[in-house]
Amino acid sequence: MRRVGLLGGTFNPPHAGHLHAARAALEGLALDALWFLPDAEPPHKVLPPGTPTAQDRVEMTRRLASLLPRAEVCTLEQELPAPSYTARTLGELARRCPDTSFVLVVGSDMFFTLDRWYRPDVIFRHAEIAALARRDEDTAALDGCRARLREQYGARVSLLYADVLEVSSTALREALRRGEYPEALTEPVAAYIRERGLYR
Ligand code: ATP
Repeated sequence: MRRVGLLGGTFNPPHAGHLHAARAALEGLALDALWFLPDAEPPHKVLPPGTPTAQDRVEMTRRLASLLPRAEVCTLEQELPAPSYTARTLGELARRCPDTSFVLVVGSDMFFTLDRWYRPDVIFRHAEIAALARRDEDTAALDGCRARLREQYGARVSLLYADVLEVSSTALREALRRGEYPEALTEPVAAYIRERGLYR
């Protein structure tokens, strides 16, 4: 059985924090591959004005993935109906890839709200979960959340104890609006944003 990690997100824009989570998962979970999974339309977020098209977010994510061996971009959510429910995506992946087991990799902000997503029972049936802290303050709460999800859903959860890298797309969008291109964008993503004149 091949074991593939999935890092879903809006990638608006992709950044070093996504790369960090992907690397931690690849190294910590003995994965064969890591697939970034850009949503078409996120169910849990309102896209701010000036958000690039889903196609541009996919292309930026491809640039980010090029920095990491064994990382790729999966465009399934661009094919499926909106909104991009993870439960539906995982069901479809299970159907299309019967020889693969999936690990859904999430930052602590997503992990803490996972049981309020659409059909958490389906999510936990189709995938293991791996969570990592986005802020030092979150580290202590990971264990309690894992215990709760195990008890309520029989979820299979592992915790990734990587260093915390406090980067967010929100902060980067603000910097871009000021005309800055912070290092956390990574060079190929910053180049794409400049080429296409995004976030102006
Ligand atoms: P926004 O600031 O617009 O809400 P974001 O930075 O949270 O965006 P997403 O694309 O929503 O980025 O994140 C996708 C996934 O990557 C989520 O599971 C999120 O928790 C995780 N992630 C994002 N940034 C980090 C980080 N710095 N460290 C660890 N995980 C992260």
